[in-house]
Amino acid sequence: MSIVVVAGVPAAGKTTVMKALLERRGGKKYKVVNFGDVMFNAAKTAGIVKHRDELRKQSPEFQKEIQKLAARKIADLAKRSGKKTIIVDTHCSIRTSKGYLPGLPKWVLEELYPAMIILVEADPDEILVRRVKDTSRLRDLEYVATIDEHQRFNRFMGMAYSTFSGATVKLIGNHDNSLEQAVEELITALER
Ligand code: AMP
Ligand code: MG
Repeated sequence: MSIVVVAGVPAAGKTTVMKALLERRGGKKYKVVNFGDVMFNAAKTAGIVKHRDELRKQSPEFQKEIQKLAARKIADLAKRSGKKTIIVDTHCSIRTSKGYLPGLPKWVLEELYPAMIILVEADPDEILVRRVKDTSRLRDLEYVATIDEHQRFNRFMGMAYSTFSGATVKLIGNHDNSLEQAVEELITALER
């Protein structure tokens, strides 16, 4: 069992790239776990939020409490997953009104100890358009400059997490009409 983290700003295409990976490789080799799903299920059961995009609007204390719970659940699941590589779909940082909330603080890294952190990236203007088009989510509408800042910060945070955990950090561009190329790069990073 090994754990790999896949992170990227909202609408960078993490979930899309994961879906394409599973279509190529199937579920025997990889198990994809969405960190936001695990957090959302815990918060929904407690009656605190009704939609996953409400999580980041809660107090940092609450978000961190649920985050800790989710990290433990995912670590437990990884232990029960045999030889599969567990891919955790999550975020280096979450943009909140109180500032950037770390997605992989010490207590999360100590549960997961990822071997690799993959940052899925696109150009800020590509991301802006994807957010506008996605009506299934309550995506925050941000300026291109803000998306650019968030993406840069995520690189710095990825390296900080790497310093703590020893994980390698791999950047993968997921540009418009280049999903196949992104998946190829991902498979190379995971398997070669
Ligand atoms: P996503 O579908 O990846 O956008 O995740 C939904 C929500 O889950 C995010 O907007 C965050 O509020 C929360 N979330 C996901 N991963 C983390 C994490 N590692 N730490 C804190 N919150 C997270
Ligand atoms: Mg997603």
